[in-house]
Amino acid sequence: MRIVESFAGVQNERFVLELADQARIEAVLYRGNTLCVSSQVGCAVRCPFCASGANGLGRNLSLDELVAQLELVRAMHPGIAYVTVSGIGEPLHNIANVGAFVEHCRKERIAPSFTTSGASPERLREAMHWPHNGVTISVHAGTEEVRKKLVPKAPTLAELFATLADVIPSLSQSRKRKVALAYLLMRGENDSDIEIDAFIARAKPLARAIHLYAYNTVDSSTTTPTSRARYDEVYARMRSAELVVRMSSQARTEANGGCGTLVAKKNLLTRSKSHAT
Ligand code: SF4
Repeated sequence: MRIVESFAGVQNERFVLELADQARIEAVLYRGNTLCVSSQVGCAVRCPFCASGANGLGRNLSLDELVAQLELVRAMHPGIAYVTVSGIGEPLHNIANVGAFVEHCRKERIAPSFTTSGASPERLREAMHWPHNGVTISVHAGTEEVRKKLVPKAPTLAELFATLADVIPSLSQSRKRKVALAYLLMRGENDSDIEIDAFIARAKPLARAIHLYAYNTVDSSTTTPTSRARYDEVYARMRSAELVVRMSSQARTEANGGCGTLVAKKNLLTRSKSHAT
């Protein structure tokens, strides 16, 4: 594996990595100490807002390829203290290698976390007991219709929330605090009051933190971000329902970082470069 390109933002740096078979993946360093790595070449979930899954799944990354992302970037940035498996791919579709990588990070004294669409109730249940430092569940919807459209090859909301309601009480208090739900706002897709209220009704009994994400577009995006004013309204609506809501960080809302902006296709790299600079 080798780094073939990198793009520096104000608070993040993105690396394009080429594998032995010439497939390309990406890793993003946030604030100099948190590395987001990819778990697959492409992704089978095919969320319509996401550049990473636009071509479907290529293949799983091996454990060595997961570790190599960390080591290549750590050679330049030795202060990496956190790793999140939240880049290209659905981590729980590659559960054996990602689980082994989580163990590897712990041995290296690096705190590992991951983001998942849920994969399957069985896999989600297993992974929530890993020695992770955080799991973020991508929900992005309040109704089944919108969930099916935005996160197509993933558990339904009924399956997802039933699994979480079953597993969370069995976790330790410290582990419980590390479970969060993610809601990526997209204009006209999932930002209506009806959708937000349906999400609140499902999320509130779990009493978990909500990451409310702004949407970062790339040139291939077909969905558009919610306006800043609407983002603030949704934030206030969730807060008034007594949810604990965290807003997107500046690092994540930079143009070249964050979920859905990572691209694996070579033919997107040139456009991605011009988008980032
Ligand atoms: S958002 Fe995540 S799960 Fe959905 S297609 Fe992209 S990488 Fe896959």
